[in-house]
Amino acid sequence: MKKSNVYNRSLIEASLDPLVTIGREGKITDVNEATEKVTGYLRQDLIGTDFSDYFTEPEKAKKGYLQVFRDGFVRDYPLEVHNKDGNIIPVLYNASVYRDESGEVIGVFAAARDISKLKKVQDELRFASLYNRSLIEASLDPLVTIGAEGNITDVNRATEKVTGYSRDELIGTDFLDYFTEPKKAREGYQKVFKEGSVRDYALEIKHKNGHITPVLYNASVYRDDSNRVIGVFASARDITELKEAEKILKLKLDELTRSNAELEQFAYVSSHDLQEPLRMIASYLQLLERKYKGNLDSKADKYIRFSVDGATRMQKLIDDLLEFSRVTTHAQEFKPTDLESIFAQVQSNLEISIKENNALISHDPLPTIMADKTQITQVFQNLISNALKFRSESQSEIKISVEKRKNDWLFGIKDNGIGIDPKHSDRIFDVFKRLHKKKDYPGTGIGLSICKKIIERHGGGIWVESELGKGSTFYFTLANLDN
Ligand code: ADP
Repeated sequence: MKKSNVYNRSLIEASLDPLVTIGREGKITDVNEATEKVTGYLRQDLIGTDFSDYFTEPEKAKKGYLQVFRDGFVRDYPLEVHNKDGNIIPVLYNASVYRDESGEVIGVFAAARDISKLKKVQDELRFASLYNRSLIEASLDPLVTIGAEGNITDVNRATEKVTGYSRDELIGTDFLDYFTEPKKAREGYQKVFKEGSVRDYALEIKHKNGHITPVLYNASVYRDDSNRVIGVFASARDITELKEAEKILKLKLDELTRSNAELEQFAYVSSHDLQEPLRMIASYLQLLERKYKGNLDSKADKYIRFSVDGATRMQKLIDDLLEFSRVTTHAQEFKPTDLESIFAQVQSNLEISIKENNALISHDPLPTIMADKTQITQVFQNLISNALKFRSESQSEIKISVEKRKNDWLFGIKDNGIGIDPKHSDRIFDVFKRLHKKKDYPGTGIGLSICKKIIERHGGGIWVESELGKGSTFYFTLANLDN
């Protein structure tokens, strides 16, 4: 063998691609090791046999090498090798003729490239894109892709449904054409390009037949392989039902606010107007008592006494009711309120009672918050005076705590008094609800309901944790409006 032949042979054997030479009649004249591997046959079994025998489509294989003899070459000619074990290997052939010293064509030199892996990737890709497509179509939300110029490049069925136009009619047209406010749609679209995405962007889609669908858009840009933005992917959420529900809710809320205001007005006006005749009854009864006490019989004295008591009590109840309705009718705007000074004020208002009880009152450093000053004073005063009033045998100890939480302040007013049976812990906040007789503890049962109304007006809540005989802690929250 000549030196150059040896060299060529090693080159051929070194190739990972199956190489083969074919004679004029289509018989294999030579192969390399890669061909043995791919076909599963040995060199000596292959040489002399028909080249086309080793493919799933022998006719196509034959056509291929005839084309080489005719045109001098083929490029990327697809075939499938059918090997000894029954496996099928997809390949692409590149082949050209070769000649003897006189320039005569004596055969074909063919190199195959195994494209199994490539095919697999392609199949996976096709599957993935099919899968994506089904996902997109399965979405009940209208989805759309928009090109850089604002033209629609793809839609799903839901988009066809909401606009009334077919996919073919939609693709290529201006995205903005399908909204009641094209200007707003453009701004949204530009925002996506500028910021990369938008969330819950409200628009209204116009159907061909005039029907309007309110939607919220979520959209983001999408990019090509080199990370260049090539368009926008946008999905719309139909919020018709949500809007409908909101409308009904608003109507109901308006109705409720109106009837509440009417009721409050009624309570205020009637208690206000009742005061006058009641005052008259009470003073004439007192006059009767003063003038005729001892002149009539003892029964008459007793009846007059009961009437005076009843009228006085009624006056007190009406005053309380009036005070209760003033929480809304005489409300003041929220201002920065220093609770330290409020506490000092309350302490001085309750000075006599504190001294009488020899009560120990301690408190955490109190913050400045946004509140209606008069009303917050009233809350602290009502709760502290209750803690003093419902004391036990032992010395009164009252502790005021405060904790800053994420969105609000939590206050606690803890006493060591008689406590409350937990089964009454909700009821005590109702108007005129009391757990004791007037002769045991004076009061009308309005204090806590006023506290509740004030706290709720401040966006907070109030509740009690207690056990009979073990003291009580009244908690309330106030919204932290600084946040
Ligand atoms: P009043 O003090 O006029 O009775 P409130 O509305 O302030 O009215 O309180 C309602 C009821 O809740 C009281 O009658 C009492 O039974 C109970 N209560 C309130 N505060 C305390 C407390 N600190 N300890 C025990 N019971 C309390």
